[in-house]
Amino acid sequence: MYDYESKLRTDRLPTQWCPGCGDGMVLKAMIRAIDANGWNMNDVCLVSGIGCSGRISSYVNCNTVHTTHGRPIAYATGIKFANPEKNVIVVSGDGDGLAIGLSHFMHAARRNIDLKYIIINNFIYGLTNSQASPTTPLGMWAVTQPFGNTDNSFDACDLAIAAKATFVARSTTLDLIKLEKILTAAFKHKGFSFVEIFSGCPVNFGKKNEMGSPKETDDWIGSLVLPANKFEALPEEEKIGKFPIGILNQNTKAKEHCEKYLEYVAQVQAKFAEGKGE
Ligand code: SF4
Repeated sequence: MYDYESKLRTDRLPTQWCPGCGDGMVLKAMIRAIDANGWNMNDVCLVSGIGCSGRISSYVNCNTVHTTHGRPIAYATGIKFANPEKNVIVVSGDGDGLAIGLSHFMHAARRNIDLKYIIINNFIYGLTNSQASPTTPLGMWAVTQPFGNTDNSFDACDLAIAAKATFVARSTTLDLIKLEKILTAAFKHKGFSFVEIFSGCPVNFGKKNEMGSPKETDDWIGSLVLPANKFEALPEEEKIGKFPIGILNQNTKAKEHCEKYLEYVAQVQAKFAEGKGE
């Protein structure tokens, strides 16, 4: 029997998430991936942003910070620099991480700082009752787009790859074993690891888009995704509106940012010690 209790703040349970919400699946898979990497919970810091996903830091029995809207990567960067030996996980939603927090995401990726960044993408601002987010698909209902979303959405993994993130993957809350494997690989990677997780918000996205149950919301997510090799084999016109899942990019050669920076500091200090620092 898996020991969840020692890894959860059981006094905070039950969670505040709605029945059928995918966030609980992410919590479970994340805890198992921490364990699969053999990390001691005292050596883990979980940083979250604002939104339903931000609540995740309340439930995990490790070092946690629930930060301000769009800024969890900024906090996490400071935490990692001060504690390079610790394992720092960041969790955002699509609104938190891809709207107000997008710039932090891009710059952390290009620096290749060793953060494990998870975006739980439920395609809407769930906590604040259904405003359109940067990933709300065209034509879907949102309270700010009551006649159907007119804005193009973007692909968070494409952005991460363009910004040179050294580990990029996408998964869903539909298959917990696959999700745990992806998170385990992301946590093992040294450098900036990004995992986008498509997750059901049956209450403030699904139901309001005529999906009558959590299962219908999950089925809709299932209709969007296919394994990366099958996605690549599709003709270009059939790729529109579909998303590959699995590990999409990994570069193990790039140097991690804190290591690079500490080497740089040592070089500068050596120059000053030799009297060549002016
Ligand atoms: Fe989950 Fe949506 Fe409820 Fe938020 S509003 S807890 S994302 S189901």
